[in-house]
Amino acid sequence: LPPIPPEIAALTPYEPGKPIEELERELGISGAIKLASNENPLGPSPKAMEAVRRGAGRLHRYPDGAGFELRQALAARFGLQIDNVCLANGSNEIIEFLCRAFIRPGDDAVAAQYAFSMYEKLVAVAGGVLREVALDDFRIDLEAMLAAVGPRTRLVFVNSPHNPAGTAVTRAQFAAFLERLPGGVVVVVDEAYVDFASDPEALNGLEFLGHAKPVVVMRTFSKAYGLAGLRIGYGLAPAPIVAVFNRVRQAFNTSIPAQEGALAALADEDFLRRSKEITWRGLRDFYACFERLGLWYAPSQANFVLTRVGPRAGEVFDLLLRRGVIVRKMHSYHLPEYLRISVGLPEENARFIGELSDILGGGA
Ligand code: PMP
Repeated sequence: LPPIPPEIAALTPYEPGKPIEELERELGISGAIKLASNENPLGPSPKAMEAVRRGAGRLHRYPDGAGFELRQALAARFGLQIDNVCLANGSNEIIEFLCRAFIRPGDDAVAAQYAFSMYEKLVAVAGGVLREVALDDFRIDLEAMLAAVGPRTRLVFVNSPHNPAGTAVTRAQFAAFLERLPGGVVVVVDEAYVDFASDPEALNGLEFLGHAKPVVVMRTFSKAYGLAGLRIGYGLAPAPIVAVFNRVRQAFNTSIPAQEGALAALADEDFLRRSKEITWRGLRDFYACFERLGLWYAPSQANFVLTRVGPRAGEVFDLLLRRGVIVRKMHSYHLPEYLRISVGLPEENARFIGELSDILGGGA
């Protein structure tokens, strides 16, 4: 082997949650429910599935590398021009474009604590360093992030709603932050969960695309649109930044089924509405349960909620697992007393609530 650069050797592979079938096999159980990966419990929209099947009929062809139709539809939806839109293999890939384009050895990027692990990894691969700024009571502290910006800072990631905290930055906080940010820094608003935000004050990065300071908004079809398996997301940005993305991206980074499915999903407004309603109802049920059990939680603008179970969290996680309820433990985030629960179907939420109440002795 050629020498492996130390910054690459130091990385750990992303550990995705195991597929539900594998967990069931390991535990010798069946009928488990997975409330662990912030997926859409409704499944994909039937209209998107139909479009994916249609797209499959053209699999001997290369996709439209420019993604014209989908970019056009996204631009029309958001009142932008097509050259403000870049498609990506999941919104993940936008992070890669940003790092390839803007991070050179010795540069750094700033993100809030518990940042999505891909930020650190992709910044490191480009030779840079990610500086993580502590949250303030599980909220992004934009003042502290501003203080962390140095002369070699090229990117600032603002993940709103934040995963795993579920909290959102307000548009007023963001406007003040942008005013005071020095030049030469791209602000990346990671809005993977923004479709679920119910607070009218919550940041919508789109409103800042025309700002003098460069803002890139990352969005995805993986969550509210239920297409996580298709791998399709997009970036919204000033045209010169999209032009840079087009230089660094692979020619055919999104597939025919992904482009077709996303186009149909975007038009299926009824599905999006149902996704939001089921999420908001599920969150309300979770909050009521946590309050009854005396557990702290962070009111969420996303499709999951973070709760503090206490020193027994690891044991509670295992007991839930054995009863076929899969949630996310937060050990890798150094939050061993916490669990993150994604909203499921009403009957799945009820099952989680019943089992948790039983385990903690609070009655269902
Ligand atoms: N950003 C955040 C904060 C996320 O949690 C995720 C998904 N886990 C992503 C981005 C990427 O999502 P995708 O690549 O599926 O669009």
